[in-house]
Amino acid sequence: MINFENTENAFAYRTPIQLKKAKWLFKAMASNTLTKVGSWLTPKLLWLPFVKTIIKNTIYEQFCGGENLEEAAETAKNLSEYGVGSLLDYGAEGKETEEEFDEATAAFIKTIEFAKQKNYISYISIKLTAFSRNGLLQKMHLQENLNSAELEEKNRVEERLDKICQAGTNNNTAILIDAEESWIQDPVDALATKMMQKYNTQRANIYNTYQLYRHDKLVFLKQNIEHAKENNYILGAKIVRGAYMEKERERAIQMGYESPIQPNKEATDIDYNLALEVCLKNLNEVSVFVGTHNEKSCQLATQYMADYSASNQTPKVIFSQLFGMSDNISFNLAKEKYTVCKYLPYGPVNDVIPYLMRRANENTSVAGQTTRELDLIKKELHRRKHA
Ligand SMILES: Cc1cc2nc3c(=O)[nH]c(=O)nc-3n(C[C@H](O)[C@H](O)[C@H](O)COP(=O)(O)OP(=O)(O)OC[C@H]3O[C@@H](n4cnc5c(N)ncnc54)[C@H](O)[C@@H]3O)c2cc1C
Repeated sequence: MINFENTENAFAYRTPIQLKKAKWLFKAMASNTLTKVGSWLTPKLLWLPFVKTIIKNTIYEQFCGGENLEEAAETAKNLSEYGVGSLLDYGAEGKETEEEFDEATAAFIKTIEFAKQKNYISYISIKLTAFSRNGLLQKMHLQENLNSAELEEKNRVEERLDKICQAGTNNNTAILIDAEESWIQDPVDALATKMMQKYNTQRANIYNTYQLYRHDKLVFLKQNIEHAKENNYILGAKIVRGAYMEKERERAIQMGYESPIQPNKEATDIDYNLALEVCLKNLNEVSVFVGTHNEKSCQLATQYMADYSASNQTPKVIFSQLFGMSDNISFNLAKEKYTVCKYLPYGPVNDVIPYLMRRANENTSVAGQTTRELDLIKKELHRRKHA
């Protein structure tokens, strides 16, 4: 059993001032009203320099690596001193023009080339929506006929993804493709599979993401493992519960279709843990990213690793938590020599606001998470005071 209660390991990389700020922040996020008002007001007031400064010194500092690659690399270097790697995420979202898509593609490739020079950054995360139009993905998802302009647009999306995957493979930086909303996910899955088949012949250079809060995804994962076996490539599987539950349920009600989301949290947990088992049982054909803050799932994953004779240090199993959250999991696993990396977003404050607002809301709505973070921080501050 890994001891996730050890706060000395968990927060060794944080100065006392940083910890006190984190305590204040998690206290503030625990308030539903404050988070709701803050999420609504912040994007509107960002043009005010003092608002930006407040955001930068609080929630941004807690959850983001820096405004540019150099700053993010400093953060990643600090983490690496404690045996924790980094999964860089260029946090730009919601772009809509071809010019912006090309810029985002160039930014991803620049990140890969930068990561190559730093041995503590081995993974980067990408979102297909950073370089393709939402409307196009929706049409592709619905398998609607595309006109000739849309077909060209679709080809450009694939070319951009291919360029990124090629650069990742050439530079030994794994590419993790994020999962998005269910109504655009099918083309993301199809393209991810195509890339894995092309670039994962020797090792997992490309990973797709499986959201187990969807009731159809465990079966899909098993089918994907079989497909990888039959077609001689390694399946890269990032296993998460899923981030868009409320949005998914609301849309299903509004549009009158069956919700793709599991009936309750227990059902999500059961499928998540089964997904872990099926991946860890098949490490000859699968490399797995365990993307969760759930202590039981992480504990279970270490147990399955032992059951299926995988060494703690195997690079085929990577535990990953978001930067600024669940340090008690990341740093205690790293201490036991498991492969761990923090999901580290970076980018100008304005660009990462949607990500930050999701973090604030998640920490309010996910039962127990904020209290857990707060308790651990308080425990560590108390320990340091009496050490
Ligand atoms: C490294 C990393 C990468 C990630 N990448 C992605 C990504 O690409 N795409 C994405 O969508 N998310 C992503 N996430 C977020 C992830 O999907 C979860 O939202 C988040 O991690 C919380 O789940 P948990 O397993 O950590 O914690 P837990 O607290 O155990 O679980 C909370 C989650 O359980 C599910 N849940 C809660 N209540 C219910 C309910 N009533 N019914 C059904 N299900 C419920 C929801 O998914 C909720 O987020 C990522 C997370 C990490 C750590």
